[in-house]
Amino acid sequence: MTAVAEASGVALHTGVAAHVRLRAARPGSGILFVRTDLPGSPSIPASITHVIPERRSTALSDPATGATIRTVEHFLATCFVLGVQDCILEVDGPELPAGDGAALYWVDLVRQAGLDVPACRYDAPKLPQPVVIEDEEGDVATFIAAFPADEFSAYYVFVPPYPGQAVQVAAYVDGSSTDAADFFVRNLAPARTPAFLEEIATLREAGLGLGVSEEQTCLLSAAGPVGKWRFPDEPARHKLVDLLGDLFLAGRFRARLVAVRTGHRHNALLARRVWEMLGGR
Ligand SMILES: [Zn+2]
Repeated sequence: MTAVAEASGVALHTGVAAHVRLRAARPGSGILFVRTDLPGSPSIPASITHVIPERRSTALSDPATGATIRTVEHFLATCFVLGVQDCILEVDGPELPAGDGAALYWVDLVRQAGLDVPACRYDAPKLPQPVVIEDEEGDVATFIAAFPADEFSAYYVFVPPYPGQAVQVAAYVDGSSTDAADFFVRNLAPARTPAFLEEIATLREAGLGLGVSEEQTCLLSAAGPVGKWRFPDEPARHKLVDLLGDLFLAGRFRARLVAVRTGHRHNALLARRVWEMLGGR
């Protein structure tokens, strides 16, 4: 019998409340989002070919129906690490609920639906050659690089936008000698969305971050961390979760990744290049 897991919550950017239902799908069908609030309940596949440009989150769109779904990255990171292959996530709104602002919310849902199959993470093609995405913006290096490797690993370097604050590095290694899923659940999934105190008003004017509460973010200011953080390097850990989710849009592959100051746009560019290199599966 297939388990169905359900949850409700407010979305991070639109502030719209949504209900989600997660269940297994036919083998080979991949990860599908189904917009149950739209006529005909259109589905949107979790694929790099369906990414649309967004600030602050990753959104997918199905050109055939025009249906979109926003802020998919935390759910996809969880699917990537926990080995979810085929599932349907029904949602009755334009953006996934934020939960606690971290991937932990989705870990619970995936486990309730019985979809976590850690063994299948290791059966993935190896990246054939290095890929680098650079950004000209500003005078501080912004880049993401992927190198061929036997095991999958990713490192994220978070550079606070305030002078004098220490650089943070977060790592995820999925090797034969590590329990990557357990590591993710304990060390990365609880990390909440970073937000900058000085930027919140500007974001809200732009119609973003409308559903954000203090409990869902690790807030950073020129004076340092605001409120209680879950980890001293929580922003780097969360940005690494975002990276894993965005990369999963290219499918699973084996590579060593290093990302410095990158965001969803850079992650998607890299995922696109990797996807093309692996034959556009
Ligand atoms: Zn995020």
